[in-house]
Amino acid sequence: MNPGLSGFEGVRAEVRDLAGEMVRLRRDFHRHPEPGFEEVGTAAKVAEWLEGCGGYQIRTGVAKTGVVADLIGRDPSGPLVALRADMDALRIQEQNEGIDYASENPGVMHACGHDAHTAILLGVARVLADNRDALKGGVRLIFQPAEEGPGGAEPMIREGVLRDPKPVAIFGLHVWSLLPVGDLALGEGPIMAYTDELQIRIRGKGGHGAMPQETIDPIVAASHLIVELQSVVSRSVDPLDSAVLSIGKIRGGSIMNAIADEVILEGTQRSFLPETQALLKRRLDDLGRGLDKTFGTQTEVTVIERYPATVNDPEMTRLASSVAEELLGPGHVQTGLRLMGGEDMSFYLREVPGCFFFIGAGNAAKGISSPHHNPGFNLDEDSFVLGAELLLRLVERFVL
Ligand SMILES: [Zn+2]
Ligand SMILES: [Zn+2]
Repeated sequence: MNPGLSGFEGVRAEVRDLAGEMVRLRRDFHRHPEPGFEEVGTAAKVAEWLEGCGGYQIRTGVAKTGVVADLIGRDPSGPLVALRADMDALRIQEQNEGIDYASENPGVMHACGHDAHTAILLGVARVLADNRDALKGGVRLIFQPAEEGPGGAEPMIREGVLRDPKPVAIFGLHVWSLLPVGDLALGEGPIMAYTDELQIRIRGKGGHGAMPQETIDPIVAASHLIVELQSVVSRSVDPLDSAVLSIGKIRGGSIMNAIADEVILEGTQRSFLPETQALLKRRLDDLGRGLDKTFGTQTEVTVIERYPATVNDPEMTRLASSVAEELLGPGHVQTGLRLMGGEDMSFYLREVPGCFFFIGAGNAAKGISSPHHNPGFNLDEDSFVLGAELLLRLVERFVL
């Protein structure tokens, strides 16, 4: 047994009593997954549950399918704390067998655990509503669409979820199958990366494959560029900083004996610091210009900024860390978390100090170890009570 499960002893009876309901909700979401901005059924169930809790001021249709609910306690002039969950699924065909709640929506699957995030926050919602009179201040629950892309946080913020009043703090969690249930990981400062999309168009001059002297071969140029790109992170980025440049797609040419007209490369670049993000862009432009000089091509580099780095406020992170250690016991809170993945929780954290943390949802003994976004992804539902208890304890630090 994982010694981290000692954390269950600290889970309040109200949360334990809701364990079955949270599992039921999660399995319902899991069975009926909806991709970004199509979370219509999910949002309706969220709103219905919140309605049933009583006391919430509920806004639906925020950024298309988002739901925001405010619970104001006995003293409305007190601080407001925000909690965020994401509701969207991925366009992946589920391959889990032997579970009776597998996706019934072909080609769509909750393969990242956002079904769990929504269920956990609904559990929290019920406990808060039942204890509304004890709160001084309020709690805002944010259920957002489209975290996996194109991004629901930014439009939710544009529609005012961080205003009237502005929260003093925001917290969110991600279940994590690569971390054992009972453990938690978090970090101060940037924990997840700037996520930028790359599109590189290399124009040449097509022609007969046997007469290259009459052409400008963009495939040869692209090959050089891909190799040169490998020098950006290794030679231009500070070795004590981190960055990634990956080309994931090459498109060009149509037949074996003709030289192509153009090649399109697509990829992703990741970094933690704004100056590194700018450096990567600069170096890509330099390499593109150098390529054109060498090969006579015309290269266009486009960097599309998707999500900024997810930056945890140091004070809020220390608070989350101490709350987690209290619940899970010493040795079960890993600090210094850093991932090259992207998260649109980052947009909220640019506006409001807060902390985004990862709670363990893996369990080797139960055979739960598939990585996120895998068609066989699953998670240990025992993590739900721990996640709910942690969020409640964090809220209580501000509004009790
Ligand atoms: Zn994901
Ligand atoms: Zn996710």
